[in-house]
Amino acid sequence: MALKLKNYINGEWVDSLGSGYLDVINPATGQLLALVPAGSGKDVIIAAEKAHEAWPAWRNTPALQRIQYLFKMKQILEAKGDEIAEICTRECGKTLGESKAEITRAVENIEVACGIPKLMQSDFSEDIARGIDEFYIRQPLGVGACISPFNFPVMIPFWFMPYAIATGNTFIVKPSEKVPLTMARIFELFEGLDLPKGVLNLVHGGRETVDAILENPLVPAISFVGSSPVAKYIYQTGVKYNKRVQAQGGAKNPVVVMPDADVETTVRIIADSAFGCAGQRCLAASVVITVGSAGEIFTEKILEAARSKKTGDGLSPETEMGPVISPESKERIEKLVQKGVAEGARLLLDGRNISVPGLEKGNFIGPTVLTNVDPDGELYNTEIFGPVLTIINVSSLDAAIEIINKSRFGNSACIFTRSGSAARKFRHDALAGNIGINIGIAAPMAFFPFSGWKESFFGDLHGQSGHAIEFYTQTKVVIERWHDEWSRKF
Ligand code: NAD
Repeated sequence: MALKLKNYINGEWVDSLGSGYLDVINPATGQLLALVPAGSGKDVIIAAEKAHEAWPAWRNTPALQRIQYLFKMKQILEAKGDEIAEICTRECGKTLGESKAEITRAVENIEVACGIPKLMQSDFSEDIARGIDEFYIRQPLGVGACISPFNFPVMIPFWFMPYAIATGNTFIVKPSEKVPLTMARIFELFEGLDLPKGVLNLVHGGRETVDAILENPLVPAISFVGSSPVAKYIYQTGVKYNKRVQAQGGAKNPVVVMPDADVETTVRIIADSAFGCAGQRCLAASVVITVGSAGEIFTEKILEAARSKKTGDGLSPETEMGPVISPESKERIEKLVQKGVAEGARLLLDGRNISVPGLEKGNFIGPTVLTNVDPDGELYNTEIFGPVLTIINVSSLDAAIEIINKSRFGNSACIFTRSGSAARKFRHDALAGNIGINIGIAAPMAFFPFSGWKESFFGDLHGQSGHAIEFYTQTKVVIERWHDEWSRKF
């Protein structure tokens, strides 16, 4: 009998009040790992009530004391990193190195949030008029919630949660139902924090659970990361219920390769970006736009790099690229590749239907490379979210930027060049929220916001750092006058 996951509400592990369960499957082996609650609106109602009850005491706990729990949180994630990474790889498919890297990213966000006593400070103006001072304070909102995607089971809740609780909110985490085990284990480990009951809660489920979060009046702030159509739905529905929403969406990340770029380094970095995590990174390089003579040499070299990638079970130390998350995802990606070919693209490397000995039930797709891709076609304009790299050749940087700026996505855009002026023009003109100059994955560190533009983001304040702190606090402006004679009377 497979393990049935429980929710963690008000400091206790409890069964979901819904009756349905979904399979959690290892994407490399097809093995059933556990059963996760399909979710119930009632679970959310109880979690929100308990988190709301815990809030007054938590917000009145001095920030310096609140962050002591975060210091312990960091220590737990570091001490148990290998165990967490293994669970993450087992349910998500990425390599152990990739799982460990996302734990590091989670820890960095905890470290930044440990600075809350300073970061939450505000401005004070003395004598805005004679004897009158004005200042503002930042106060928490209440109960926050984050709804996260399958591709970073550890990192993404930490773009929000440490900031939310450090600023005095209580919190609900809703992991992806495809990868719930990693966060379930992290919550077990976090019992060692001895946080007051109700401050951190875990609720499993799918759409019904998400809708219940969106509608619940006790949850005023929602952080979402996932695909663009769902991000848009979350944003619009949350706003309808008068909530603050930050909703990070899907992507299609272009990388421009200029003729003066260093070929070896550029190819190595782009191959890692395109095929790492089996292309299931929201910052994965998915389109390379070569300029002029860069086309021929880049294409030849990236093919060599792609062919050499070893695909397999992420738990094996030799594996460089794991499976995609599900059979449905594999089928969708393979159909898109076929569509691209029908649109006139040339398939230079076909990773469809590769077989990994001993892992015949895994959802493997090998690195796939297409050239001659039509920028107006479906392949170019759809987020593939798999190890598929498409290449377009254009005659100038202007033409490359024009193609980039037509995209409905704006998560990231990168350029490889030795020219400072090309890089500067690119940085200035490209319509994307995260720019990489000779960088393959323009992932902001925890002390910068994870920007995203156009349909890659709905809202105004992003995850991480100062944006997360602003998102999870509201400003209260105080104008103050003290009369001398009044103070003398007391
Ligand atoms: P997804 O949108 O399918 O699911 C994300 C979350 O939304 C899950 O928790 C899921 O339970 C919930 N959900 C799914 N469908 C829903 C619906 N119809 N109504 C309400 N809730 C729903 O995304 P995914 O497949 O888990 O993750 C991959 C996507 O996430 C990709 O598009 C990727 O680009 C994106 N992503 C974006 C960022 C970023 O920072 N912009 C980071 C990581 C991943």
